[in-house]
Amino acid sequence: MMNLRGECLCGGVKYEYNGETGPVINCHCNECRKWHGSAYRTRTVGKKANFSWLSGEENVAFYDRLPNVIKTFCKICGSNLISLYKDNEGFIGLPLGAVEIVDSMKKAEQIELLKPSYHVYVDYKADWHDITDNLPQYKELPDEISSIHKLKQD
Ligand SMILES: [Zn+2]
Ligand SMILES: [Zn+2]
Repeated sequence: MMNLRGECLCGGVKYEYNGETGPVINCHCNECRKWHGSAYRTRTVGKKANFSWLSGEENVAFYDRLPNVIKTFCKICGSNLISLYKDNEGFIGLPLGAVEIVDSMKKAEQIELLKPSYHVYVDYKADWHDITDNLPQYKELPDEISSIHKLKQD
């Protein structure tokens, strides 16, 4: 069980997640690279029922033009918040760069759970970025390793 808090750059939007999370992936797809303006997106997945906005929900904006994902972001500072899955409404995507572990007693254990398990969509990775770790790499995101799939099995 994970206890996470996240907030945007301006601090106007805050949220928490208390519950189980799925495997953490580094996604190198074109959408994630543009979305984050970075080499890849590191994210996990959780159950929507375990998520709540703590403050600033009125500043949450929605981008709903991707096939299966609605991304949310802060209207003031533009930071990425959670993502919503159109085909899996009970789940959310959590970008790890924005979250912190709340429970200091369980920090070491939770840090282990937040370490990435694999790279996906590596065929789309930025030309200038070399993957230098030994994690498994996938050309796309096979269903059997997807975080939603793993969380559904529990
Ligand atoms: Zn903000
Ligand atoms: Zn992606």
